[in-house]
This record gives sequence, C-alpha cells and structure tokens, in this order.
Amino acid sequence: MRLSSDVTNRLTASGIRLTRQREEVLAVLMQKRDHPTAVEVFIRSKKHMPTISLATVYNCLDALVASGLVKQVNLDRAPTRYCANLLDHSHFFCEECGAVHDIETPVHQPWTLPAGYLVKQAEVTFRGRCPACINKNLSNL
Ligand SMILES: [Zn+2]
Ligand SMILES: [Zn+2]
Repeated sequence: MRLSSDVTNRLTASGIRLTRQREEVLAVLMQKRDHPTAVEVFIRSKKHMPTISLATVYNCLDALVASGLVKQVNLDRAPTRYCANLLDHSHFFCEECGAVHDIETPVHQPWTLPAGYLVKQAEVTFRGRCPACINKNLSNL
C-alpha cells in the first residue's frame, strides 16, 4: 500500500523516533483529511490497533506536532483537531455541520503589515457554511 510507505518516509525524514503507534496515528490522519479530534483519531486507530490507548494517541499527536508532521487546528470552544496536510493552507470551518476544510493559501499574501514585523507563520480561519450545507438548505426551500 502506497500510503504506509508514505507515512514511514515522512516519519523517517522528520528524524522522529519511529514507533508503530506513531505510524498508525499519522496514517489515520493522512487517510481521511477531515481534521479529526484526538478522540476520533483514537477510535479510528483502535480498528487496526486494538491495544492503543487514548493517552498513547495524545502522546503520539504531541510528538507529531512537535516534529512538524501534523498541525493543530484550534477553533473557539471546540476540541483541538489535527491536520496532516503539510502544504501552507488555511481552514474553513462550517458553522452548520462542523466540518473543517483545507483552503489553499494564496501565494501572494494579501496582507499589508505595518513596517517592522517579521512574519513566521500566518493562520487564517474562515467561518461560514460549506457547499454541502448550502445545497441542503436550498433544496429545503
Ligand atoms: Zn457544512
Ligand atoms: Zn488542514
């Protein structure tokens, strides 16, 4: 399976210590890019690795975030979600169904910063309704 070698390659390239649990957690995040919470990652990991615990999943996520392989997505009043998309991107949060989608960040950033600031990272969260929710509402009219 291509995915599993991709997972292993990413882990090896980052210099992080390779464990079966870390591989499993990263594979879960790369398989379905829906930005699951730690508990959701735990439930999915358990299918292939019934012995994994929630504490282990949290530890793996911490290690993956620290090594830059996974990003945390923090939204107001919601548990942290996790994202394995390493490309520069922003997130769109659907206020209706709670889905989080990746939005490509424009190459030329449309920001005009006051002089004297050095940007290391820009993070934008869009909020609104996703296409699925808009279509659902239209068909209910
Ligand atoms: Zn939605
Ligand atoms: Zn993302």
